[in-house]
Amino acid sequence: MNTQGISTLSTDASRNVLESLHTGLHLNGQWSESASGERFEIVNPATEEVITTVANGNAADARRAIEAAGAAQAQWAKSAPRFRSEILRRAYELIMARQDQLALLMTTEMGKPLAEARGEVAYAAEFFRWFSEEAVRIGGNQTTTGDGANRILVSKEPVGPCVLITPWNFPLAMGTRKIGPAIAAGCTMVLKPASLTPLSSLALVDILIEAGLPDGVLNVVTTKDPGAVVGAWLGSGIARKLSFTGSTAVGVNLLEQAAQHVMRTSMELGGNAPLIVFGDADLEVAVDGAVAAKMRNMGEACTAANRIFVHSSLAEEFSDKLAQRLGALVVGDGAADGTDVGPLVEPKALDKVESLVADAVAKGARVLCGGNRPEGAGYFYAPTVLAGVSPDAQMMHQEIFGPVAAVVSFETEDEVVALANDTPWGLAGYLFTQDLDRAFRVGEALQVGMVGLNTGIVSNPAAPFGGVKASGLGREGGTTGIEEFLETKYMSMPRR
Ligand code: NAP
Repeated sequence: MNTQGISTLSTDASRNVLESLHTGLHLNGQWSESASGERFEIVNPATEEVITTVANGNAADARRAIEAAGAAQAQWAKSAPRFRSEILRRAYELIMARQDQLALLMTTEMGKPLAEARGEVAYAAEFFRWFSEEAVRIGGNQTTTGDGANRILVSKEPVGPCVLITPWNFPLAMGTRKIGPAIAAGCTMVLKPASLTPLSSLALVDILIEAGLPDGVLNVVTTKDPGAVVGAWLGSGIARKLSFTGSTAVGVNLLEQAAQHVMRTSMELGGNAPLIVFGDADLEVAVDGAVAAKMRNMGEACTAANRIFVHSSLAEEFSDKLAQRLGALVVGDGAADGTDVGPLVEPKALDKVESLVADAVAKGARVLCGGNRPEGAGYFYAPTVLAGVSPDAQMMHQEIFGPVAAVVSFETEDEVVALANDTPWGLAGYLFTQDLDRAFRVGEALQVGMVGLNTGIVSNPAAPFGGVKASGLGREGGTTGIEEFLETKYMSMPRR
């Protein structure tokens, strides 16, 4: 394993980015402290240094936020689609103009290498560009009843104030994927970013204000007490929609709360993605795909290849090539030049990965590379390939969320499809084959919302992102993304 270290905070660039950042709550167009006056610390996972503090919002702050969103809703719903579209377009341009600063901020709070952070900033901005184009194309239609007696006029309306909750692993893109369609549809919002990584969202607020977003449309509460803040929103009777990205366990709890007010919900939850390499696959393409699907975001992605099934005829060669590729990656502070793999987000994540690897090894897995954490500061784990992982290993049944590739060999197509579907989750799946019929057959048989055919990347703002089974409800992005923020209204009118 290659390692390198550098303190991001010692660089002038990261100090400048932090100095210009608001770190309070954003309520009804104003930055303010929490009613409690409390703040909490944000830590750089590469150095374990505290980089700044942010306001620790409570239930009273949450009520102010949702009341502001409620008060702004009627006026915002009446705003011209072109007005909302142009705010999003300007925000897209501002994000891209500040791509490097936003990437450095993201790397500092979350750990991903700068090149990946720049990629996420562009991906995040693209949701605003996409939804700026959708804002002016919200449709409706008119038909006639079967007996010809009535007109059926169908129109779309904003669903109303939305509760948006985002995870730490994609600090900017998970926000823009929700804020973009909400603005386009004419919904006001309250947003709670993850407590580990709120800084990117706070930077985004300033960009949206600069782009012309009216007061009260987007209200942001950072907190260390998510239950109190989100509970106040979901129980308020003001919020009409919940859009959540995070773990299935928290998602289920929030669905129960949202049910009390029969709210619309979009839930982007956890995954346990299978990646299948058939015997007829192009080996180089399959290894490239596995590296992409496994190592994006240090393996901390809901779409990460969690179980890699390789036909027995290729398993050894594939595993060796994968180990060569992962073993050569440079691990270090994401802000340093040449880093391929940053730290995990927090010590708990590191402990979990270590324990999953120990469990797999105890159950017979062979370590082809990695399998350890480097000495020194930072929550780093070495890129790891495990061969011969037992079906009983814990990592086959839960998200690894780290740079660990678990390889299992199989014999038949039926066997591997059954193995792939033997999980409560169903977000993404990947398959590598040169047989077109097999690609369609297996792609259709996989119980997932998204399939990568001979590719390890499925995310794109123009595509409907989402899962089935315990991976969630609804889709984000694509032409369906805005529908999640719209209600359908039908008016009946006699033909006289
Ligand atoms: P998490 O623990 O479920 O947290 C997600 C968000 O929910 C955070 O903002 C968190 O706040 C908040 N939260 C936690 N407990 C809560 C409660 N009791 N009430 C209200 N809100 C609460 O998930 P995570 O660890 O941040 O993110 C990783 C998970 O997200 C993985 O399972 C991953 O697969 C999933 N994910 C899914 C997608 C997708 O599109 N399907 C995309 C990315 C990630 P705090 O930060 O304060 O805890």
